Amino acid sequence: QTAEVGVIGMAVMGSNLARNMARKGFRVAIYNRTASRTDEVIAGHGNEGTFLPFHDLANFVASLERPRRVVMMVKAGCGTDAVIKEITPLLQPGDVLVDGGNAYFGDTRRREEEIRPTGIHYVGTGISGGEVGALEGPSIMPGGSKESYEIIGPVLEKISAHVDGEPCCAWMGTDGAGHFVKMVHNGIEYADMQFIGEAHSLLRAAGLTNAEAADAFESWNHGDLNSYLVEITSRVLRAKDPRNPDTDLLDVIRDEAGMKGTGTWTVQTALELGVDVSTISEAVFARSVSSAVPLRTVGQHVLAGPEHTITVEDRQTFLTDVRDALWSAKVVAYAQGLDEIRTAAAEYNWEVDMGQIASIWRDGCIIRARLLQRIRDEYAAGDLVSLLEAPSVKAELARCQQAWRRVVACAVEAGVPVPGFSSALGYYDQVRAPRLNAALTQGLRDLFGAHTYRRVDDEGSWHLNWSGDGREVRAN
Ligand code: NDP
Repeated sequence: QTAEVGVIGMAVMGSNLARNMARKGFRVAIYNRTASRTDEVIAGHGNEGTFLPFHDLANFVASLERPRRVVMMVKAGCGTDAVIKEITPLLQPGDVLVDGGNAYFGDTRRREEEIRPTGIHYVGTGISGGEVGALEGPSIMPGGSKESYEIIGPVLEKISAHVDGEPCCAWMGTDGAGHFVKMVHNGIEYADMQFIGEAHSLLRAAGLTNAEAADAFESWNHGDLNSYLVEITSRVLRAKDPRNPDTDLLDVIRDEAGMKGTGTWTVQTALELGVDVSTISEAVFARSVSSAVPLRTVGQHVLAGPEHTITVEDRQTFLTDVRDALWSAKVVAYAQGLDEIRTAAAEYNWEVDMGQIASIWRDGCIIRARLLQRIRDEYAAGDLVSLLEAPSVKAELARCQQAWRRVVACAVEAGVPVPGFSSALGYYDQVRAPRLNAALTQGLRDLFGAHTYRRVDDEGSWHLNWSGDGREVRAN
């Protein structure tokens, strides 16, 4: 018997993805470096579909129908390089090798370029949804050649999540585009979680208990803020400490957030591309500050400021304001993330379709949200310089912006840190400002370093002879 697709790497992600494929009717060859893991998958789930288990990579490859479809789900970095080295001599031109791990898009571009001369299609693919998504239907973001999508696309589309019959999987563009889009997805996820955390801090500062805050998130989840992250927030807020049922679990979890690196990549890449992703960088830095225990200990003891309490006259009005601020900030994070993708697409010659990206994030992934349907529809109606200019988005922002300002202002007054909400608002005000402070920056740069300036009423670059006769000269 031959296999239609093969999966390498039987840790949690690979085994769940293979099971998903088998459940959808594909004959799946499986292989893992440590053979016992392969045996465990068969022992535990062999009855879920047609699996062809292998302990030898050459036999695994030989079992696959041509053009072969191989999905690697191994440890990103050295694991991926090791498998590529071992498998490429066994594959043939026209075969497709998918990397479904969380690779850095620059590594994917390098690997694709190295493998391309062999005629093997290397397909860097972002997969979101964690282990449950892998099993039940993730959001899938494949890159690589267009030709490769014709071969691997049907399998990936079938195992992905679906919305109204449409798969949450689409070709993202050549070489590293898939992993790039997944990276930005994770960056938006960071920002989204930071905003949710800030909203919760505001509610607590205004005197709500965790259970009351959970009620607020639950009601927001019925409206425009409907999303997986808002939904699970109320679950986390309601959870009790299993060691002490009188205590909220949240109050015994250390206030220090870790990270694995995709948020950092999103920010580093944005810096290189010259794109403002301030909401994502604030979220990354907020996690860094949370873990900087000595700094926070010193700060708590020596820095003066208000007592972190917000006096609320009307609780319902305050809740509505926080909701509007949360929605607005979230939109800014999406606008910034999509702007990073758009800029990268121009830089790397990717044919990305913004509406399609929003479309495949509608389900299966961690940032799935009602907002994505709106983003998809807005991009389907016409190309946008920024999501913020989309008709329904700008109208809603216009309605929410006063509340957003009130929330940031009262947080600042009370000393409640809201770096995400305020940087999102700062971005909104920067992009709508007729003039920023850049003219003065240019003047200063020309004075101290002869960096020149450009004029509003003339072409070219100019330099003022600041220390001499005060005349203006044209620069080269
Ligand atoms: P891990 O990242 O823990 O990787 C373990 C797997 O990699 C095992 O199958 C292991 O084989 C294999 N492996 C490691 N090094 C090598 C090597 N040198 N040669 C061959 N195989 C090797 O597994 P996960 O299932 O958690 O994740 C798989 C990939 O999916 C990763 O890239 C991860 O970043 C990505 N991912 C994970 C998500 C998650 O929620 N966990 C979500 C989305 C993507 P062995 O058993 O022999 O050690």
